Amino acid sequence: MQYQSTRSPQETAGSAEAILRGIAPDGGLYIAHPDGLCPNWQDLLRMDFYGMAETLLGRLLPDFGPVAMHKMVHAAYEGKFNAADVVPLREMGNAHILELFHGPTSAFKDVALSILPQFITEARKLSGQSEETLILTATSGDTGKAALEGFRDVPGTRIAVFYPRDGVSAIQKKQMATQAGNNVAVCAVEGNFDDAQTGVKKIFAACESDSLLDGTNMVLSSANSINIGRLAPQTVYYFKAYADLVKDKKIRIGDPVDFVVPTGNFGNILAGYLAKRMGLPVGRLVCASNANDVLTEFLHTGRYDRRRHFYKTLSPSMDILVSSNLERLLWLMSDGDSELVSEKMRELSEKGWYQVSPELLAEIQAVFLSGCCDDAETKGSIRNVWEKERYLCDPHTAVAWGVRGKVKADLTGKACVVLSTASPYKFAPAVLEALGENVSEDEFDCMESLNKFTGVAVPANLLGLRALPILHKDCVPKDEMLRYVLRKAGESQWNK
Ligand SMILES: *Cc1c(COP(=O)(O)O)cnc(C)c1O
Repeated sequence: MQYQSTRSPQETAGSAEAILRGIAPDGGLYIAHPDGLCPNWQDLLRMDFYGMAETLLGRLLPDFGPVAMHKMVHAAYEGKFNAADVVPLREMGNAHILELFHGPTSAFKDVALSILPQFITEARKLSGQSEETLILTATSGDTGKAALEGFRDVPGTRIAVFYPRDGVSAIQKKQMATQAGNNVAVCAVEGNFDDAQTGVKKIFAACESDSLLDGTNMVLSSANSINIGRLAPQTVYYFKAYADLVKDKKIRIGDPVDFVVPTGNFGNILAGYLAKRMGLPVGRLVCASNANDVLTEFLHTGRYDRRRHFYKTLSPSMDILVSSNLERLLWLMSDGDSELVSEKMRELSEKGWYQVSPELLAEIQAVFLSGCCDDAETKGSIRNVWEKERYLCDPHTAVAWGVRGKVKADLTGKACVVLSTASPYKFAPAVLEALGENVSEDEFDCMESLNKFTGVAVPANLLGLRALPILHKDCVPKDEMLRYVLRKAGESQWNK
């Protein structure tokens, strides 16, 4: 299967090469036609998570071959998630919650970032790459930790993570600042997530056009969802949820199922759309946003306008105004119209906004619904779900739960699955406050109070953070990110 840049059909790569590069040389994102890639999807429903992952990833990333894929899937997930079926589905009222946060860092990003290092290592072998792979990552909080954990001490790789200094939760910051490993760098940016993400994209462009890394024995790649190796593993749990619904006799094979997805960079929900195009009977995909409602506006009007106030919310991993993966949606929905995608992305970067045609908007709206919740509504959802269902959810999941309530009348599926993207303990102060409990200054005291109040267990990885030393204190202005990377690339060893 051949991948190509969303911005040019000439810019092609095989699946392994696309993963190694992270982003296409022309600034576009790698994509391929997913239609009917899984004609025998019914067979998947009898498999466990591992079997599904091997089959689906084998289709999406054929370069690796079945033997290597089997090894990589098991190495990535076995014993790493504290749920036997990796991504458990729970019934909740007349909907279902898909828990994606049982991995090593308690965020859904673990599902993809546990296996991405395997892909990169294998792709390096296939391509005979002898340089070190330097993974550059911008994070709104969760990607950073999950990527650091995934890549720490992986031979042949180094990873540098940039996070917005004041834009992540205290626990997220502690998770990253305490990261051990001889190949990791963590740096705060004086700016918001969009500044960090734009900064990383600019570093890629500068290194590509000016050959800045020549002589350093390093090549760049990315662990953000611009990397197709991040998106592909996220298709698996849509199939897994569907299979569970069939097994539990909630639906019959072929019935459409709706998914509500708390959305930031549009990666998670795009994976759901890929699953649909591959053959899974997905009904509606509901894009749930917080007060940063740029996607809600786009999906209602066809106008994408990033020139707006940036809100810091209780769901920081969704505080994003430029959603990278929308570029892939435009490509998929326009039947691979690279010229259109290039034009819109140019408008977005030069003018700050673009508008799609009514025809394209109608195609998008036939699949995607959308809505948003502000912080007050988010807290209301956390409280409601706790009081009615005795289920403790994190603020991102609460946004999705709230939006589900708003769009209920327009859902068409036989069942509805809400994706739960983080452990509530990552955002303990906000969750405590929503429940009307006293909030202490110290986030670990908050975890304890929340545990006492609800009886829900605290994940061991978060509990253990309190005692860890701070190892990373770097901080740069947003226009110094390139210089930081070049300096780090010149150091023969990190953290020694
Ligand atoms: C990253 C993240 C999201 C948003 O996912 P995207 O793929 O960026 O849309 C939602 N919730 C949590 C907890 C996250 O970490």
